[in-house]
Amino acid sequence: MTARYDLHSHSLASDGTLTPAALVQAAHAAGIGVLALTDHDTTDGIREAADAAQALGLRLVQGAELSVTWQAQTVHILGLGLDTENAVLQAGLAQLRESRDSRAEEIGRRLARAGIGGAWTGARALAQGRIVGRMHFAHYLVAQGHAASVRDVFRHFLVNNKPGYVSVQWASLEDALAWIRAAGGIAVIAHPARYRMTASKLRHLVGEFRELGGSGLEVVSGSHTRDNVDTMAALCRNERLLASCGSDYHGPENCWIRLGELPDLPAGCKPVWQSERWRLQ
Ligand code: AMP
Ligand code: MN
Ligand code: MN
Ligand code: MN
Repeated sequence: MTARYDLHSHSLASDGTLTPAALVQAAHAAGIGVLALTDHDTTDGIREAADAAQALGLRLVQGAELSVTWQAQTVHILGLGLDTENAVLQAGLAQLRESRDSRAEEIGRRLARAGIGGAWTGARALAQGRIVGRMHFAHYLVAQGHAASVRDVFRHFLVNNKPGYVSVQWASLEDALAWIRAAGGIAVIAHPARYRMTASKLRHLVGEFRELGGSGLEVVSGSHTRDNVDTMAALCRNERLLASCGSDYHGPENCWIRLGELPDLPAGCKPVWQSERWRLQ
């Protein structure tokens, strides 16, 4: 049953490589019945995805993955079941995209100082007027022969203490949850194991998140190991959070994450789609 839900995915509207329609078709072909499109800091792909989903009989959850800074660390919060017309949400997302644009320019300047010219122009060309993320820089640097793979670019250029790293003050947790709430969505902490927080720090994050109206934890993620899933399932049960599952699929190039292959949610975790607030547009 769980395998039919995938509540975290990306399209060309952010840093995925498939169009929203092609993503929905790939999900349908992989046996997914309910898909959330959760592009970074934008809902621009939703309309096209919803049209494609309707044609195929797949149910689309209108979502987004919001960039948040919490205790000087970047944390991603998914909003699921969003009213994309909501002005509060859209103003918040626009603010995040402005931060992205100025960061992209600064990444370009820093890479130029490190001897890699044209990266800002190159990344923007790949983004084609949509949001610019580190993934676009990564693809550009690989294409220019500066690294062998996207992973290598991140490792050598785009993470803390590397030449193209720029730290950003994203939205506060409080603001991000207010925007999701205004749009009628359910907030979920994305890929919690990726933050490498101590157990007590993660409980602290969960505590603040709950106080601010957050309710879900992405227990099953394409980037979680089996151990990560077990750890997050225990946290989810102890804190009485709703459990979510999502691949974080970015397209067929990222071959380590495939659609339709998520493990089931562990026993005792209440799925987010059993919440009384769950609704599909
Ligand atoms: P951004 O939101 O622009 O800072 O970029 C974050 C995105 O970069 C994530 O959503 C992933 O798609 C990608 N990413 C982050 N770290 C890595 C990594 N080590 N290898 C490959 N992709 C990564
Ligand atoms: Mn991404
Ligand atoms: Mn993420
Ligand atoms: Mn994601």
